[in-house]
Amino acid sequence: MLTVTPIPAFNDNYIWALHDACDAVLVDPGDAAPCLEFLETRGLTLTAILVTHHHGDHVGGICELASRYRPRIYGPSRESVPCITDRVSGGDTVAMDGIGLQFSVIDTPGHTLGHVAYYGSGRLFCGDTLFACGCGRLFEGTPAMMAASLDKLAQLPDDTQVFCAHEYTLSNIRFAKSVDGGNPALLEREKRDQELRRNGRPTLPSTLALEKATNPFLRCGEPGLIRAAEARLKRSPHDAVEVFAVLRRAKDAF
Ligand code: ZN
Ligand code: FE
Repeated sequence: MLTVTPIPAFNDNYIWALHDACDAVLVDPGDAAPCLEFLETRGLTLTAILVTHHHGDHVGGICELASRYRPRIYGPSRESVPCITDRVSGGDTVAMDGIGLQFSVIDTPGHTLGHVAYYGSGRLFCGDTLFACGCGRLFEGTPAMMAASLDKLAQLPDDTQVFCAHEYTLSNIRFAKSVDGGNPALLEREKRDQELRRNGRPTLPSTLALEKATNPFLRCGEPGLIRAAEARLKRSPHDAVEVFAVLRRAKDAF
């Protein structure tokens, strides 16, 4: 029986642990200490690590965990990831036999140029590309790159569970309301997620259906968001990529 558990790290990171009774796989272990505690208290062996991109809050714990457990370490071929054993890129398949998991790798440049996401068994581990009701900042890529990456993720089945690497949901919802305030699904989501946070619970995983209904960065073709971009540009946006670019800029300054 496979379980997926968030290990909180730093201020707002989640290191996702996929585990059965014996083995565990970690996604983006930015800090070794909470991972070691998680593995040791449950008597789990770390067999693999999946890495989405090179930022310190996603890779900082890898080598310490690697020296202890010798897991396979899968990470993006276009980025430098410490202690990596297997370089992957879009279209590759990652198979972890012991724990019975298989993921396809999706290239999702934008937040960083080599960023990848992992999709398998109805679960998407998308690092800092897609967030609940938001998306990652454009540190390295262009708006067109990020918009295309999000489009790719939006093609996955509606019931896909979305495991993001940060708990940013409530602040993302505040921004979403400023550009898509008339969206009833968004207001409903705010109530539900505020309640979860009040009880100290994660708002994740989300689902792709919920993201398509509420995430402004997946809704750049919707009339309400086109109008929000228009108000900021003081002219009609040329296309959905320009709507995305305007919204992403507005979020940076929000
Ligand atoms: Zn990052
Ligand atoms: Fe991050």
